[in-house]
Amino acid sequence: MGNSTSKKDNVIHADIADGNEPIPIKVINNYNEKQPFPFQYGTEYRLSEKVKSLTYQPTESDGCNCVAECTSELCRCESSSTATFDTINRRMQTFIDSYTCGDHQYIECGQHCGCMAKCKRRLTRDTIMKNIEVRYKPDVGFTVIACQHIAAGMPIMNYIGNVVIQEELEKNLNAIWGTDYTFNFHNEGNHKFHCDAAEYGNISRFMSHSCDPNAYILKAFPSTPFDKSKIVIPKLVVIALRSIIPGNEITITYGASYFRDRDIPCLCYTFVCAIPPGIFNIATPHC
Ligand SMILES: [Zn+2]
Ligand SMILES: [Zn+2]
Ligand SMILES: [Zn+2]
Ligand SMILES: [Zn+2]
Repeated sequence: MGNSTSKKDNVIHADIADGNEPIPIKVINNYNEKQPFPFQYGTEYRLSEKVKSLTYQPTESDGCNCVAECTSELCRCESSSTATFDTINRRMQTFIDSYTCGDHQYIECGQHCGCMAKCKRRLTRDTIMKNIEVRYKPDVGFTVIACQHIAAGMPIMNYIGNVVIQEELEKNLNAIWGTDYTFNFHNEGNHKFHCDAAEYGNISRFMSHSCDPNAYILKAFPSTPFDKSKIVIPKLVVIALRSIIPGNEITITYGASYFRDRDIPCLCYTFVCAIPPGIFNIATPHC
Protein backbone atom coordinates (compact mmCIF):
# COMPACT_ATOMS: atom_id res chain seq x y z
CA MET A 1 0.00 0.00 0.00
CA GLY A 2 3.05 2.22 0.35
CA ASN A 3 2.20 4.02 3.55
CA SER A 4 3.16 3.66 7.15
CA THR A 5 -0.31 3.44 8.70
CA SER A 6 -0.66 0.40 10.95
CA LYS A 7 -3.94 -1.19 12.01
CA LYS A 8 -3.62 0.29 15.49
CA ASP A 9 -3.38 3.86 14.21
CA ASN A 10 -6.14 6.21 15.21
CA VAL A 11 -6.96 7.92 11.92
CA ILE A 12 -8.77 11.18 12.76
CA HIS A 13 -9.08 12.36 9.13
CA ALA A 14 -9.23 9.96 6.19
CA ASP A 15 -8.25 12.82 3.85
CA ILE A 16 -7.45 16.28 5.14
CA ALA A 17 -6.98 17.37 1.51
CA ASP A 18 -10.71 16.81 0.83
CA GLY A 19 -10.00 15.03 -2.46
CA ASN A 20 -7.79 17.82 -3.79
CA GLU A 21 -4.66 15.69 -4.03
CA PRO A 22 -4.04 12.58 -6.17
CA ILE A 23 -3.96 10.44 -3.03
CA PRO A 24 -5.85 10.95 0.26
CA ILE A 25 -3.76 12.46 3.08
CA LYS A 26 -4.45 10.87 6.44
CA VAL A 27 -4.16 12.53 9.80
CA ILE A 28 -3.26 10.23 12.69
CA ASN A 29 -3.26 10.94 16.41
CA ASN A 30 -2.46 8.01 18.68
CA TYR A 31 -1.88 10.16 21.77
CA ASN A 32 -4.80 12.39 22.62
CA GLU A 33 -7.99 14.06 21.37
CA LYS A 34 -6.24 17.00 19.71
CA GLN A 35 -7.29 17.94 16.18
CA PRO A 36 -5.45 20.24 13.77
CA PHE A 37 -6.81 23.80 13.68
CA PRO A 38 -9.36 23.97 10.87
CA PHE A 39 -8.09 25.55 7.63
CA GLN A 40 -9.16 25.71 4.02
CA TYR A 41 -7.29 23.25 1.83
CA GLY A 42 -5.86 24.54 -1.43
CA THR A 43 -3.23 23.48 -3.94
CA GLU A 44 -2.31 26.86 -5.41
CA TYR A 45 -1.10 30.18 -4.10
CA ARG A 46 -3.77 32.77 -3.44
CA LEU A 47 -2.41 36.23 -4.19
CA SER A 48 -3.99 39.21 -2.46
CA GLU A 49 -5.27 41.99 -4.73
CA LYS A 50 -2.40 44.14 -3.50
CA VAL A 51 0.15 41.46 -4.42
CA LYS A 52 -1.49 41.01 -7.84
CA SER A 53 -1.22 44.72 -8.50
CA LEU A 54 2.44 44.84 -7.48
CA THR A 55 3.66 41.80 -9.38
CA TYR A 56 4.28 41.01 -12.98
CA GLN A 57 2.95 38.06 -14.95
CA PRO A 58 5.59 36.95 -17.47
CA THR A 59 4.72 37.10 -21.16
CA GLU A 60 6.09 35.31 -24.22
CA SER A 61 8.92 37.81 -24.52
CA ASP A 62 10.21 36.71 -21.12
CA GLY A 63 10.20 32.93 -21.63
CA CYS A 64 12.60 30.71 -23.55
CA ASN A 65 12.21 30.05 -27.27
CA CYS A 66 12.80 26.30 -27.15
CA VAL A 67 10.49 24.28 -29.36
CA ALA A 68 9.95 21.09 -27.40
CA GLU A 69 12.63 20.20 -24.87
CA CYS A 70 14.69 22.57 -22.79
CA THR A 71 17.84 20.63 -22.13
CA SER A 72 20.68 22.59 -23.63
CA GLU A 73 22.41 25.82 -22.75
CA LEU A 74 20.31 27.40 -25.49
CA CYS A 75 17.36 27.40 -23.13
CA ARG A 76 17.21 30.82 -21.53
CA CYS A 77 15.39 29.47 -18.48
CA GLU A 78 18.06 26.81 -17.95
CA SER A 79 21.00 29.16 -18.47
CA SER A 80 19.63 31.78 -16.08
CA SER A 81 19.00 29.27 -13.27
CA THR A 82 21.59 29.04 -10.50
CA ALA A 83 20.58 25.47 -9.71
CA THR A 84 20.31 22.52 -12.07
CA PHE A 85 17.50 19.99 -12.02
CA ASP A 86 18.28 16.50 -13.31
CA THR A 87 15.24 15.99 -15.51
CA ILE A 88 15.82 12.25 -15.94
CA ASN A 89 16.08 11.30 -12.27
CA ARG A 90 13.85 14.21 -11.16
CA ARG A 91 16.35 15.41 -8.55
CA MET A 92 18.14 18.70 -7.95
CA GLN A 93 21.65 18.19 -9.25
CA THR A 94 23.17 21.16 -7.48
CA PHE A 95 23.88 20.53 -3.81
CA ILE A 96 21.92 23.09 -1.84
CA ASP A 97 21.33 23.04 1.89
CA SER A 98 18.79 24.72 4.10
CA TYR A 99 21.15 27.64 4.79
CA THR A 100 22.13 28.36 1.18
CA CYS A 101 18.74 27.73 -0.47
CA GLY A 102 17.95 31.46 -0.32
CA ASP A 103 20.98 32.18 -2.53
CA HIS A 104 19.67 30.04 -5.37
CA GLN A 105 16.94 30.57 -7.85
CA TYR A 106 15.53 28.10 -10.26
CA ILE A 107 13.96 29.57 -13.39
CA GLU A 108 11.02 27.39 -14.23
CA CYS A 109 9.46 27.15 -17.67
CA GLY A 110 5.84 28.24 -17.95
CA GLN A 111 3.03 28.69 -20.45
CA HIS A 112 4.83 31.81 -21.68
CA CYS A 113 7.85 29.71 -22.82
CA GLY A 114 8.33 28.15 -26.26
CA CYS A 115 7.99 24.71 -24.67
CA MET A 116 4.58 25.76 -23.25
CA ALA A 117 5.64 24.36 -19.84
CA LYS A 118 5.55 20.86 -21.28
CA CYS A 119 9.29 20.27 -20.91
CA LYS A 120 10.75 18.13 -18.14
CA ARG A 121 12.39 21.12 -16.46
CA ARG A 122 9.15 21.79 -14.65
CA LEU A 123 9.95 21.34 -10.97
CA THR A 124 6.68 22.26 -9.35
CA ARG A 125 3.30 20.61 -9.53
CA ASP A 126 -0.04 21.87 -8.32
CA THR A 127 -0.41 18.68 -6.28
CA ILE A 128 1.59 16.85 -3.63
CA MET A 129 4.39 14.99 -5.40
CA LYS A 130 5.10 12.29 -2.80
CA ASN A 131 3.11 9.99 -0.55
CA ILE A 132 2.95 11.62 2.87
CA GLU A 133 0.70 11.78 5.93
CA VAL A 134 0.22 13.94 9.01
CA ARG A 135 0.83 12.50 12.49
CA TYR A 136 0.60 13.93 15.97
CA LYS A 137 3.84 13.70 17.92
CA PRO A 138 4.13 14.66 21.60
CA ASP A 139 6.14 17.90 22.08
CA VAL A 140 5.94 18.59 18.34
CA GLY A 141 2.22 18.54 17.47
CA PHE A 142 0.92 17.60 14.03
CA THR A 143 3.82 16.97 11.68
CA VAL A 144 4.44 15.68 8.15
CA ILE A 145 5.65 12.08 7.82
CA ALA A 146 6.98 10.40 4.67
CA CYS A 147 5.17 7.23 3.58
CA GLN A 148 7.67 6.40 0.84
CA HIS A 149 11.37 6.68 0.10
CA ILE A 150 12.31 10.14 -1.16
CA ALA A 151 15.79 10.52 -2.63
CA ALA A 152 17.91 13.57 -1.83
CA GLY A 153 17.09 16.38 -4.24
CA MET A 154 13.58 15.26 -5.07
CA PRO A 155 10.74 17.81 -4.94
CA ILE A 156 8.06 16.84 -2.41
CA MET A 157 5.42 19.57 -2.56
CA ASN A 158 4.89 23.28 -2.97
CA TYR A 159 4.51 25.51 0.07
CA ILE A 160 1.00 26.94 -0.32
CA GLY A 161 -0.78 29.80 1.41
CA ASN A 162 -2.14 33.29 0.97
CA VAL A 163 0.54 35.55 -0.48
CA VAL A 164 0.38 38.97 1.17
CA ILE A 165 2.64 41.93 1.83
CA GLN A 166 3.86 42.91 5.28
CA GLU A 167 1.25 45.66 5.75
CA GLU A 168 -1.61 43.26 5.03
CA LEU A 169 -0.19 40.68 7.37
CA GLU A 170 -0.01 43.17 10.23
CA LYS A 171 -3.66 44.06 9.63
CA ASN A 172 -4.94 40.49 9.40
CA LEU A 173 -2.77 38.84 11.97
CA ASN A 174 -4.85 36.24 13.68
CA ALA A 175 -4.38 36.40 17.43
CA ILE A 176 -4.90 32.67 17.93
CA TRP A 177 -2.52 31.36 15.32
CA GLY A 178 -0.06 34.19 15.45
CA THR A 179 2.67 33.87 12.87
CA ASP A 180 3.27 30.13 13.28
CA TYR A 181 2.20 29.38 9.72
CA THR A 182 3.59 32.52 8.16
CA PHE A 183 6.95 33.24 6.69
CA ASN A 184 8.61 36.05 4.83
CA PHE A 185 9.83 34.41 1.64
CA HIS A 186 10.68 37.24 -0.67
CA ASN A 187 11.74 40.88 -0.45
CA GLU A 188 11.77 43.06 -3.51
CA GLY A 189 11.17 46.69 -4.35
CA ASN A 190 10.56 47.88 -0.75
CA HIS A 191 7.99 45.14 -0.24
CA LYS A 192 8.15 42.15 2.03
CA PHE A 193 6.14 39.23 0.70
CA HIS A 194 4.82 36.63 3.11
CA CYS A 195 3.20 33.25 2.58
CA ASP A 196 0.49 32.90 5.20
CA ALA A 197 -0.84 29.37 5.63
CA ALA A 198 -2.84 29.99 8.84
CA GLU A 199 -6.27 29.88 7.19
CA TYR A 200 -5.49 28.53 3.74
CA GLY A 201 -2.85 26.11 2.52
CA ASN A 202 -1.81 22.55 1.93
CA ILE A 203 0.02 19.91 3.97
CA SER A 204 3.26 21.91 3.95
CA ARG A 205 1.82 24.04 6.77
CA PHE A 206 2.36 21.07 9.13
CA MET A 207 6.09 20.77 8.46
CA SER A 208 8.05 20.98 11.68
CA HIS A 209 11.33 22.69 12.39
CA SER A 210 14.61 20.93 12.94
CA CYS A 211 18.05 22.49 13.43
CA ASP A 212 19.25 19.56 11.25
CA PRO A 213 16.43 19.46 8.69
CA ASN A 214 16.05 16.88 5.94
CA ALA A 215 14.32 19.27 3.52
CA TYR A 216 14.66 22.87 2.34
CA ILE A 217 12.58 25.34 0.37
CA LEU A 218 13.79 26.40 -3.06
CA LYS A 219 12.42 29.39 -4.94
CA ALA A 220 11.19 28.54 -8.44
CA PHE A 221 10.77 31.73 -10.47
CA PRO A 222 9.02 32.14 -13.78
CA SER A 223 11.36 33.44 -16.50
CA THR A 224 12.70 36.71 -15.19
CA PRO A 225 11.67 39.74 -17.23
CA PHE A 226 14.41 41.78 -18.87
CA ASP A 227 13.11 44.71 -16.88
CA LYS A 228 14.49 44.04 -13.42
CA SER A 229 12.20 46.60 -11.83
CA LYS A 230 9.30 44.15 -12.24
CA ILE A 231 8.51 41.96 -9.27
CA VAL A 232 7.90 38.28 -9.92
CA ILE A 233 6.73 35.96 -7.18
CA PRO A 234 8.52 32.61 -6.97
CA LYS A 235 6.82 29.35 -6.15
CA LEU A 236 8.24 27.67 -3.06
CA VAL A 237 9.22 24.05 -3.52
CA VAL A 238 10.00 21.73 -0.61
CA ILE A 239 12.96 19.57 -1.66
CA ALA A 240 14.56 16.63 0.15
CA LEU A 241 18.02 17.53 1.43
CA ARG A 242 18.88 13.95 2.33
CA SER A 243 17.33 10.58 1.58
CA ILE A 244 14.11 10.27 3.53
CA ILE A 245 12.70 6.86 4.43
CA PRO A 246 9.09 5.91 5.25
CA GLY A 247 8.26 6.96 8.81
CA ASN A 248 10.72 9.90 8.80
CA GLU A 249 9.40 13.30 9.73
CA ILE A 250 9.93 15.85 6.93
CA THR A 251 11.52 18.92 8.51
CA ILE A 252 12.70 22.34 7.41
CA THR A 253 14.42 25.08 9.38
CA TYR A 254 12.35 28.01 10.62
CA GLY A 255 15.54 29.91 11.52
CA ALA A 256 16.77 30.60 15.04
CA SER A 257 14.87 33.90 15.23
CA TYR A 258 11.57 31.95 15.33
CA PHE A 259 12.54 30.60 18.76
CA ARG A 260 14.32 33.72 20.00
CA ASP A 261 11.36 35.96 19.09
CA ARG A 262 9.01 33.70 21.05
CA ASP A 263 11.49 33.03 23.84
CA ILE A 264 10.92 29.29 23.59
CA PRO A 265 13.43 26.44 23.30
CA CYS A 266 13.72 24.27 20.22
CA LEU A 267 12.67 20.66 20.80
CA CYS A 268 14.35 19.10 17.77
CA TYR A 269 16.87 17.25 20.01
CA THR A 270 19.51 17.09 17.30
CA PHE A 271 23.23 17.36 18.08
CA VAL A 272 23.40 20.67 16.29
CA CYS A 273 20.35 22.23 17.98
CA ALA A 274 20.87 25.99 18.23
CA ILE A 275 18.42 26.67 21.07
CA PRO A 276 17.95 23.48 23.09
CA PRO A 277 15.91 23.41 26.30
CA GLY A 278 18.09 24.02 29.37
CA ILE A 279 17.36 20.62 30.81
CA PHE A 280 16.72 17.70 28.50
CA ASN A 281 14.08 16.12 30.71
CA ILE A 282 10.89 17.92 29.69
CA ALA A 283 8.07 15.63 30.73
CA THR A 284 6.24 14.29 27.71
CA PRO A 285 2.54 14.03 28.33
CA HIS A 286 1.67 10.55 27.11
CA CYS A 287 -2.00 9.76 27.44
ZN1 LIG B 1 13.63 26.35 -22.85
ZN1 LIG C 1 11.44 28.14 -20.49
ZN1 LIG D 1 10.89 24.43 -20.97
ZN1 LIG E 1 16.81 22.55 17.47
